[in-house]
Amino acid sequence: MASGGGIEEVSNKQVILKDYVSGFPKESDMYLNASGTIKLKVPEGSNAVLVKNLYLSCDPYMRGRMKQPIPGNETYIEPFKPGSPIVGYGVAKVLDSGHPDFKKGDLIWGITGWEEYSLITATQTLFKIHHTDVPLSFYTGLLGMPGMTAYAGFYEICSPKKGEHVFISAASGAVGQLVGQFAKLLGCYVVGSAGSKEKVDLLKNKFGFNEAFNYKEEPDLHAALKRYFPEGIDIYFENVGGKMLDAVILNMRAHGRIAVCGMISQYNLEHPEGVHNLMTVVWKRVRIEGFMVYEYYHLYPKFLELVLPYIKEGKITYVEDVAEGLESAPAALIGLFTGRNVGKQVVVVARE
Ligand code: NAP
Repeated sequence: MASGGGIEEVSNKQVILKDYVSGFPKESDMYLNASGTIKLKVPEGSNAVLVKNLYLSCDPYMRGRMKQPIPGNETYIEPFKPGSPIVGYGVAKVLDSGHPDFKKGDLIWGITGWEEYSLITATQTLFKIHHTDVPLSFYTGLLGMPGMTAYAGFYEICSPKKGEHVFISAASGAVGQLVGQFAKLLGCYVVGSAGSKEKVDLLKNKFGFNEAFNYKEEPDLHAALKRYFPEGIDIYFENVGGKMLDAVILNMRAHGRIAVCGMISQYNLEHPEGVHNLMTVVWKRVRIEGFMVYEYYHLYPKFLELVLPYIKEGKITYVEDVAEGLESAPAALIGLFTGRNVGKQVVVVARE
């Protein structure tokens, strides 16, 4: 710890993206830089906030930010900068602030850096944490971006009704586990797919899904879905894409809805797989609708009003996969693409 001109300067470990990534990401695509330092003060006249990062969130969309941008083919979000720290959702404590809405000691969640301390200039992405009677790490998942995704995707896009038949892929993950519980609370019949026996057990025994299956053990996904939905699927909450989507389309009921949240099976492919069964969408009059969580952040207070009592009453439960230390972050992030995570993948940088 050094002090220059009365301003404390401390070392600041960072996870750096080495270069753009193609194919499956590897741990070696990132490295830990232990030689950085940071001044624990917001520059004079700036309205940024200086935070200590506590918990970081590993999210599948981050893979898209590791890709080399193709001119003329921009996506909704800027790529990471090779040689710079990874950027993502996290929970942090404000140490200094030039912004009128944030003060020293506040807890926030939002977009921060994969480092011990961050100077955040894009303060419009930050949410103040008001409820601290739940674990703070929940704001990377259940009470943060993935939770809002489940809420917006299920209630706003799926138009769910009691008794409907709901299927969720990547169902034990951060988003899926909550969608399934919302659907159960509404009185739906809920089936989830996941990639291991442990996850299938979680879906049935912890999250209360009616049924669950391991998609890796099903040579014929169409037949598997027929087995669990002999009368068809009303709502599909799509997290994976590819072959699963094709099989689901064939099993949709008339006027079914598919909320397209993500397609993780496609994120590391150079050439995305095609979808072959789209004609069924016509004669079954299926609505397929994509959505982005950031368009629903205005509903965050309403979401908290619904979900906080559910958590306190034990009506909603939650599973996290916690990796200790910034140095474990690269492995935790790439683990999402092999299904290594069981529940929401969090990285602890500091507990306080
Ligand atoms: P997650 O489920 O916690 O982690 C990803 C999981 O995906 C893995 O654990 C793995 O579980 C599964 N997976 C990985 N590769 C797969 C493959 N090739 N085929 C099938 N499954 C595979 O992630 P999450 O945070 O809940 O995100 C779920 C989806 O929501 C992702 O597609 C993500 O991009 C999307 N999302 C969208 C928005 C939005 O605004 N639209 C916001 C947040 C998230 P298994 O062991 O079960 O395979």
